[in-house]
Amino acid sequence: MALVGGAAEILMKFKILLSLILWINTFALSQAYEHPGQYRYPFIRPASSFTEPPSAAESRGASKTYDYIIIGGGTAGCPLAATLSQNFSVLLLERGGTPFANGNVSFLQNFHISLADTSQTSASQVFISTDGVINSRARILGGGTCINAGFYTRASASYIKRVGWDAKLVNESYPWVEKQIVHRPELVPWQRAFRDSLIEVGISPFNGFTYDHLYGTKIGGTIFDRFGRRHTAAELLASANPDNLHVLVHATVQKIVFDKTSKRPRAVGVIFKDENGKQNKAFLSKRPRSEIIVSSGALGSPQLLLLSGIGPKADLEKLNISVVLDNEFVGKGMADNPLNTIYIPTNRNIKQSLIQVVGITKLGVYIEASSGFGQSMDSIHWNNGIVSAEVSTMFLCVCLVYSNE
Ligand SMILES: Cc1cc2nc3c(=O)[nH]c(=O)nc-3n(C[C@H](O)[C@H](O)[C@H](O)COP(=O)(O)OP(=O)(O)OC[C@H]3O[C@@H](n4cnc5c(N)ncnc54)[C@H](O)[C@@H]3O)c2cc1C
Repeated sequence: MALVGGAAEILMKFKILLSLILWINTFALSQAYEHPGQYRYPFIRPASSFTEPPSAAESRGASKTYDYIIIGGGTAGCPLAATLSQNFSVLLLERGGTPFANGNVSFLQNFHISLADTSQTSASQVFISTDGVINSRARILGGGTCINAGFYTRASASYIKRVGWDAKLVNESYPWVEKQIVHRPELVPWQRAFRDSLIEVGISPFNGFTYDHLYGTKIGGTIFDRFGRRHTAAELLASANPDNLHVLVHATVQKIVFDKTSKRPRAVGVIFKDENGKQNKAFLSKRPRSEIIVSSGALGSPQLLLLSGIGPKADLEKLNISVVLDNEFVGKGMADNPLNTIYIPTNRNIKQSLIQVVGITKLGVYIEASSGFGQSMDSIHWNNGIVSAEVSTMFLCVCLVYSNE
């Protein structure tokens, strides 16, 4: 009997110990934010991990403030955050999650699946323009580079001049990006045929493989490597100074906060919602040149300015948004990029490719092609506008002709 009693006691102690271990493990897991890139990017955390400074006034003098707050961790926001973090403290806020374990993002063969995924957790958010054009915008760290066709080219010298950028700085930035995420494509048969066709119809000269923007036909860069794996702007964060950078994902900025005590309102902080719906506030440091940088995309940036009270006064008042700055241009003048698509259906199994070859004409018209993204009868049926799955039930070769002017 004593033996049985002892065994029961040991068993009970073992059960308590096991429960304790399990509880400690669960607790530890709930504290850590796990994503496949966590060791390379230890500064990426969920928005809910943010601890708010006690109050706006105190925070302006408190330690947890930032020299730069960047809103939108997309194609522009990620390299900007990595660069600024070399010398300044930076908070990067991105409304989507991380791309590192997302198969729809990582693999070329899922390009169209990602665009067709209309779920709340999708990396791509579908929208329809006022002209009725179906399109997508990114909702993930890495932004458009996580859902786009991955074609990479340098800007033309005339463009850099027209928009007033510092040409020297731009030219120094190209290799920084190219070394990290751009690749030379291996041409698939359809892209080779497309290249030869462009040359045959007189889109010349043939400039071979080059990142430069040159008239004629060329093979450009791609963010897909030879295994069809996508490299996104989120990977540029690997160049950041980890001691200076804080990246919060699932952090949707709702409003920029202004200090209106002086004549000219000054942006001092942001209000953002975390993944649990809780509102948080983050503030800039007192450093005179500290800034809030809006890089939330062509739609997201004007949307956020309007929500923050910057825009046409009449429009803001109609929505009961108190006006910080009356600016008639915010949210105006948007236009769809004219695009004509020629589909060539075939019942042969065509190797998949996204943009590798491009024809650049002096009329400001670009000609590109992709292949193999058709759908079978039982797969997804969703018109995503750009490379619509509904257009054909066969394997496709697509020729896209669009204008830049
Ligand atoms: C289907 C498709 C194919 C394309 N193909 C190519 C191509 O082959 N080559 C090419 O050069 N370009 C291509 N583009 C265009 C290119 O992807 C975009 O021009 C580029 O990504 C824009 O960069 P961005 O930084 O301005 O915006 P984005 O990269 O869209 O970044 C904006 C980020 O801000 C976040 N955000 C928005 N609002 C908020 C908020 N309130 N709070 C927090 N975060 C917010 C978004 O989630 C997003 O991550 C393509 C675009 C699409 C849609």
